[in-house]
Amino acid sequence: MSELAKIFGSQVFNDSVMREKLPTATYNALKNIIDNNLTLDPNLAEVVASAMKEWAIERGATHYCHWFQPMTGMTAEKHDSFISTSEGKIIMEFSGKELIKGESDASSFPNGGIRATFEARGYTAWDFTSPAFVKDKTLYIPTAFCSYSGEALDKKTPLLRSMDALNRHGLRVLRALGNKTAKKVMAYVGAEQEYFLIDRELFMKRKDLLFTGRTLFGARPPKGQEMGDQYYASIKTRVLNFMQDLDIELWKLGIPAKTRHNEAAPAQHEIAPIYNIVNVASDQNQLMMETMKKVAARHGLACLLHEKPFAGVNGSGKHNNWSIGTDEGVNLLDPGPEPHKNTLFLLILASIIKAVDVYADVIRSSVANSGNDYRLGAHEAPPAIVSIFLGDQLTDIIEQIEREGEARTSICSTKLEIGASALPVLARDITDRNRTSPFAFTGNKFEFRMVGASTSIAGPNFIINTAVADILSEVADRLEAAGNKEEEAKKITAEFVRNHKRIIFNGDNYSEEWKTEAERRGLSCIDNFVDAKRTLLDGKNIRMFARMGVLTEKESLSRYEILMENYNKTIRIEALTAIEMVERDILPAVHRYITEIATCINQVRETGVHIIIETQEKLLKDISTLAVSANEKVRELKKAVNEAAAIEDVSSQGVAYRDKVIPVMKSLREDIDSLEAMVDSRHWPIPTYVDMLFGLE
Ligand code: ADP
Ligand code: MG
Repeated sequence: MSELAKIFGSQVFNDSVMREKLPTATYNALKNIIDNNLTLDPNLAEVVASAMKEWAIERGATHYCHWFQPMTGMTAEKHDSFISTSEGKIIMEFSGKELIKGESDASSFPNGGIRATFEARGYTAWDFTSPAFVKDKTLYIPTAFCSYSGEALDKKTPLLRSMDALNRHGLRVLRALGNKTAKKVMAYVGAEQEYFLIDRELFMKRKDLLFTGRTLFGARPPKGQEMGDQYYASIKTRVLNFMQDLDIELWKLGIPAKTRHNEAAPAQHEIAPIYNIVNVASDQNQLMMETMKKVAARHGLACLLHEKPFAGVNGSGKHNNWSIGTDEGVNLLDPGPEPHKNTLFLLILASIIKAVDVYADVIRSSVANSGNDYRLGAHEAPPAIVSIFLGDQLTDIIEQIEREGEARTSICSTKLEIGASALPVLARDITDRNRTSPFAFTGNKFEFRMVGASTSIAGPNFIINTAVADILSEVADRLEAAGNKEEEAKKITAEFVRNHKRIIFNGDNYSEEWKTEAERRGLSCIDNFVDAKRTLLDGKNIRMFARMGVLTEKESLSRYEILMENYNKTIRIEALTAIEMVERDILPAVHRYITEIATCINQVRETGVHIIIETQEKLLKDISTLAVSANEKVRELKKAVNEAAAIEDVSSQGVAYRDKVIPVMKSLREDIDSLEAMVDSRHWPIPTYVDMLFGLE
């Protein structure tokens, strides 16, 4: 076996380990449960727990933990050791009960009011469709987290419920169209993850990076990303060492890290794994983000996952590649050689077009966080307008369907000759890429490009899954009632295309014209977090989540509350950090420099040679003016934060943070960044953009 094959998944209690460690009957029973979405038998859990414990102990584990994803967007874990005492001796124990269910205090996690009316108790429940793993001498058991009365308090529960909905209605559509054999319809996701790496010592000296994940100040360096010399550039040794180490850690955890490269901004990079079933992909992305931070620390680096750590260069996103397929290995988004004849594909495609059009607002809201407000629409990421890119071939088919009710031809792929005899003739892709599109069809999947780098992908995916499931349920109702299913499928496809084609846009999403055109088409452009999240309160969306069994109305409302609270706290922390840095670090340094210039002026004056004095006096005056202005803005900012904090209603509070606090923070930043450009670099108390972005060897 190759070294890599030995490493890969070595820390994971995966299918092959289960096959080896479990009695055949138990293994088959568990497989049957997983494959057919059945409920778990507690006796079975007992056998699995025992095998899992033995396996984990062999790998040095002393503890186990239920690993879950509360609404903080991070993961949570509480460790318990395997030890138990019996007649004064220690034995290693791990029961089926402990595997299936954990208990924790739900009131300490964001719960958006659900806590107020129920007991504090919360439960974690084993998600046996995502494999357990050993990390740091601890057995990690992926779980979902809910309240005493069963309400979802995490990112995973709605994702699992959305998978059920997609499966249920996807299967109904397949059955209606004659597929008798598929047992499951699943969503698959491959998430490309962007990040920044900077020297850890510099990171530790920046309170803004430590507390908020982004730089609140920093003058632009003379060079940014304008030369295009970082994208795919040769990777620096220190970064490559990190990447190699990271890949190995990820492989051990069964995460199929595949691609690594430099990204557009200085110090920016990307990693992408091979796609997986969406809940596993989501768990793996969380695990990947944690591992990136840990491995970076080991290399004296800090890994930044914020959407906009540095102003003036690109921020980081996460391209969420999404498709749906069956347990028989059929990708329902694969158009095949003659897509115009592929009734099922066209029906699914039309359903997705309708889902994205009808639920564009809530899909937009799924990617909203305070960091993404700086990225979307800033010519580095798609705009805040949701639209679909289909490319030449599918657009041509869609246009035929729109005109004639069905399509009769498909554009075929052509050959690409490069013009040198030494080079091979290549098959040209049927469609070019469109990097500016938020929701782009890329051959056999959709690439949702609005997701922020730090976000848990569970959020966007449960929303996409649910929206698509909702439309598929409508399709299934109609197909089941129809006599001629094939004809009905074509009819539905044509109807959806005609009614929802406004969401299709193949042009430049970054252009100003698109904004005007989108407005004309009646598409919404929501450019900030507060407005985006408000769409969760829309009756149409609440009903959709309830209808699909993904979120009850109460859960939708509590989620809104939690996310707003989270935003409000984030902006408050940013403002307090800015105040702290300016008052305690930056202005004192500026004052020291002012004193130095003043002393210098006096000393020069004594020499009788006055030629430099005028310049020095001007500098002194300019710096002093800015320092006074910054001081004044700090006062304003304090006032704005206090006023916002006093507001009780989370929505009005969000509006106050957005409209009253953020603008003052921005304006304070302008003064500080101007000061940075004037103050002697020896006096500047925090690492600069030049240090952080260009410092690595
Ligand atoms: P890009 O050209 O944007 O880098 P790639 O083709 O390399 O895109 O794939 C990016 C991601 O999409 C990878 O994580 C890959 O595994 C994933 N991917 C590929 N096919 C599918 C699919 N059918 N469904 C979901 N994700 C997929
Ligand atoms: Mg991509």
